[in-house]
Amino acid sequence: MTDFAGLKALVTGGASGIGRATADLLAARGAEVAVLDLDPGGVAKPLRAYAADVRDDASVREAVASVAAGLGGLDVLVNNAGIGAQGTVEDNDDAQWHTVLDVNVLGIVRTTRAALPHLRASARAAIVNTCSIAATAGLPQRALYSASKGAVLSLTLAMAADHVREGVRVNCVNPGTVDTPWVSRLLDAAPDPAAERAALQARQPTGRLVTADEVAAAIAYLASPLSGATTGTALAVDGGMQGLRLRPV
Ligand code: NAD
Repeated sequence: MTDFAGLKALVTGGASGIGRATADLLAARGAEVAVLDLDPGGVAKPLRAYAADVRDDASVREAVASVAAGLGGLDVLVNNAGIGAQGTVEDNDDAQWHTVLDVNVLGIVRTTRAALPHLRASARAAIVNTCSIAATAGLPQRALYSASKGAVLSLTLAMAADHVREGVRVNCVNPGTVDTPWVSRLLDAAPDPAAERAALQARQPTGRLVTADEVAAAIAYLASPLSGATTGTALAVDGGMQGLRLRPV
């Protein structure tokens, strides 16, 4: 419990799903937590809400500066904001590629660039990126999303190497299929959402979806001094999907 006390954290995409669960968990364990989101309307105290689009460098720099000033520094950056895309390379046009890469990859670059000067000043600095099993699984119908998360994985490793001697640890989590509003939106678009959900659950090694709280716990671990000797790793939180070499087709 004490490892989170006084930790100053920023969670992007923290208004929903995995990001919200992470912000809530860190705050419940004593961290001071700011949320940066496109739509932070539902974010309430003790969380601090900042509206920003990770595609907009100026708004990211402004928000991160406000967070660091408001919290009196920054120890932890959780780069979690992300969007999805379905289809093969023939299904997504250039505009869709630019949009998804802008959010999922460049979004991390922008927040990290803005946060690093503050993180370097911290004695317990950590960055955790929300990646995905899509980075390495070779999922069908996810060409663009997989490429974006492959970039998040290699960016995590490169950032870990670049900043290890500055005392900034960089890791990522690789969730499987997580029961968040994102997945509900996809299921709701199916002709029979209940049947689709049951089929999706049946394809999981555990017979159920991963919960947002389970991913949040992994992020919190990588964000805390409990993982002080860990940098440049990807932690799977996928109900065994990767380890058992199964695919959520
Ligand atoms: P979600 O849609 O529930 O939440 C995403 C949040 O990000 C939202 O609050 C949204 O407003 C915010 N956001 C989106 N674009 C933004 C932007 N341009 N600027 C600022 N904020 C923005 O999704 P989730 O399922 O919680 O996913 C969160 C992360 O987890 C994503 O990076 C996603 O790729 C990853 N992930 C999700 C799953 C899953 O099954 N849900 C699996 C693997 C990885």
